[in-house]
Amino acid sequence: MPGRPRISFITDSMLGNLARKLRLFGFDTLYYRAGDDEGLLHNFQERILLTCDRELYRKSVLRNRRVIFIERADDEIEALRRVFSELGMRPKAIAVRCTVCNGPLRRMSRDEVVSSNLIPSSTKRRYREFYVCTSCGKIYWYGSHWKSINATVDKLKEALETKL
Ligand SMILES: [Zn+2]
Repeated sequence: MPGRPRISFITDSMLGNLARKLRLFGFDTLYYRAGDDEGLLHNFQERILLTCDRELYRKSVLRNRRVIFIERADDEIEALRRVFSELGMRPKAIAVRCTVCNGPLRRMSRDEVVSSNLIPSSTKRRYREFYVCTSCGKIYWYGSHWKSINATVDKLKEALETKL
């Protein structure tokens, strides 16, 4: 799929919310719940590590691991701003990753949408684009949820422009 980002991330156990938000931008983002630093340091080397743990950050830098430090006090926009700013990227929401489980999304055909009993009839009539997570089965569509995503994108763009 065009526009799918190639950068991937892994977040420490404190940054589950940031992991979900990054998936809205299409990033393959693992949330490392286990919380042991060594596991994070030794595995997933191909992923950029996001952490709010100063000790883990320090160890990562010493080992030449790609890492971005997130302040624990950051709100969601500020945390995202750090990531996008650090990597010099423009934010764009893209429906390719499940925000819940990080599974890849697939566009549903009209027939699938019509025959699905997980989508309310009024929603089927109102929206044209539906996506399903190929891993957990969650269904997404461009409805009110998408409006709040766009609001997040706008706030993030503003933050990136004002704070360089
Ligand atoms: Zn999923």
